[in-house]
Amino acid sequence: MPHPLHHYINGQKTSGDSGRFGDVFDPATGKVSAQVPLASPDDVRLAVDAASAAFPAWAETTPLNRARVMFRFKELLERHAGDLARVITAEHGKVLSDARGEVTRGLEVVEFACGIPHLLKGEHSMNVGRDVDSWSEYAPLGVAAGITPFNFPAMVPLWMFPVAIACGNTFVLKPSERDPSASLFLADLLKQAGLPDGVFNVVHGDKAAVDALLDEPRVQAVSFVGSTPIAEYIYARGSAAGKRVQALGGAKNHMVVLPDADIDGAVSALLGAGYGSAGERCMAISVAVCVGDTTADALIEKLAPKVTALKIGPGCDDPEMGPLVTAAHRDKVRGYVDLGISEGAELVVDGRACAVEGHQDGFFLGGCLFDRVTADMRIYREEIFGPVLCVLRVADFETALKLVNEHEYGNGTAVFTRDGGAAREFAHRVQAGMVGINVPIPVPMAFHSFGGWKRSLFGPLHVHGPDGVRFYTRLKTVTARWPDTHAAEFVMPTMK
Ligand code: NAD
Repeated sequence: MPHPLHHYINGQKTSGDSGRFGDVFDPATGKVSAQVPLASPDDVRLAVDAASAAFPAWAETTPLNRARVMFRFKELLERHAGDLARVITAEHGKVLSDARGEVTRGLEVVEFACGIPHLLKGEHSMNVGRDVDSWSEYAPLGVAAGITPFNFPAMVPLWMFPVAIACGNTFVLKPSERDPSASLFLADLLKQAGLPDGVFNVVHGDKAAVDALLDEPRVQAVSFVGSTPIAEYIYARGSAAGKRVQALGGAKNHMVVLPDADIDGAVSALLGAGYGSAGERCMAISVAVCVGDTTADALIEKLAPKVTALKIGPGCDDPEMGPLVTAAHRDKVRGYVDLGISEGAELVVDGRACAVEGHQDGFFLGGCLFDRVTADMRIYREEIFGPVLCVLRVADFETALKLVNEHEYGNGTAVFTRDGGAAREFAHRVQAGMVGINVPIPVPMAFHSFGGWKRSLFGPLHVHGPDGVRFYTRLKTVTARWPDTHAAEFVMPTMK
């Protein structure tokens, strides 16, 4: 029997009043494992009520004491990382060791947030004028909201709320309704860590819940991660309502392989970056751009048998690739493979007939590899978000760079080469937010910030790291003088 899930509002579990529920699947078996309540606008209002009520006391809690809650949360996350990974695998489908890696990358943001007293120190200038001092300090905003995608049900929320909360804000998370349990697991650990009720809340739901958050005047800031059309919508509607918004969207990450690259290294990198997590990563490599036919031939020759031999099975058995998140998504990805064939690309490895013994109803799809893809094809232009890698062949470095720069997305990119000058040139001129040199998935560490360019990010600030602290705080600059006596001044004050 599917088990019922709940919202988490003001430290309490509640199923809300909407009467609407969504099915959550175990992607390895295809069976419904849970039912998630889909919040009504009233449920969202209650969560924002709780977050608003908790804000004044939490904002006045000293940064050191907020950091201490984060330290306890970090310890609990470490202790329960294996359990959380199992929760992720059960609803997302990714293999267990990958889910564990996701938890680690999220944990690193908590470690960053533990340093909040240092991060909030501000700036001070003595004697900006005679006997006048000035300082800038970072004030929390109030209630912040996070709206997150299915593909990292723990890590992406962890990109957001540890920084937001450590800065003194309260938070309402609306996680993906496709794998909602990880966020409830995190809520439970936060409670055990001593976070006061109301500081962190979870409301599940779909568009109705998201729109209620966007229209709620007490929500000051919205962090969104998901597909580009929704990111653009969130940015427009949230900004129009006067909120600050960071909305991270989709991707089509290119890896450029130059003729002097270590081909074995490039093949291993493509295998992990293209097919890890069944390609359901915003930093997955979905396009390999080979400079020269010799490079492409060598790469395909070595890559194709490895893609064919990928070990595929239920994520809990920890093979190399698990199922896709839902049947609908699997069918969409398979549809792109059909499309690529009709567009004239050469399907070198066809994973469409993939079957996993004992898991006939699981949402499995084998690795697919296209060669001779061209820039006008939809399989190149659109995000597929599955285990499908497109290889393009170009004549030279400039054409490769132009391809990356002309694509509408600019999340991550990579260059594989042994030529330091070419790598430097690529990193300098490429139009993308995150660049790898012989690193296929250049996800910045938590103390740097994560974000793309072009239609992969709407809004000026990236997530976590220094940008995260800027996003969740507003600057206040105080100018102070302690005069004995002072005459009125009618001209613009200038430094004396
Ligand atoms: P999605 O856009 O379908 O959903 C993201 C969130 O938006 C979910 O919480 C969902 O409930 C909500 N949502 C969906 N439709 C909505 C609507 N019409 N109105 C309001 N809210 C809506 O994304 P997804 O399928 O869950 O995740 C995959 C996408 O996320 C991919 O495009 C991937 O590239 C992107 N992603 C980007 C990054 C990044 O850092 N740029 C990271 C992870 C995932």
